[in-house]
Amino acid sequence: MTVIRTENFVVCDFCNEGADSYGGVLVGSTAICGNCSEKNGFTSEGIPNQAYEFKDEISKYFDNDKTFQENVEEYRLEQYGTKDAVTIIY
Ligand SMILES: [Zn+2]
Repeated sequence: MTVIRTENFVVCDFCNEGADSYGGVLVGSTAICGNCSEKNGFTSEGIPNQAYEFKDEISKYFDNDKTFQENVEEYRLEQYGTKDAVTIIY
């Protein structure tokens, strides 16, 4: 078993970038950056898009005053007590 700690490595699960974008959303365990959230209609100008058809599936809207990087780190800290992303390979 190998445990890989990728430290504070943050990328969007849609575009594999987006750490510097603002806001973003969480759909289950999928973290989506601000750019993709806008593109897919999850948010509109940084605020939750009430017209989005599947908005019930969005678990969390990240703070739009913070970067996606900061938001994901904060979320990890809240959920797992660490900012590191931990991947376990069996
Ligand atoms: Zn993205």
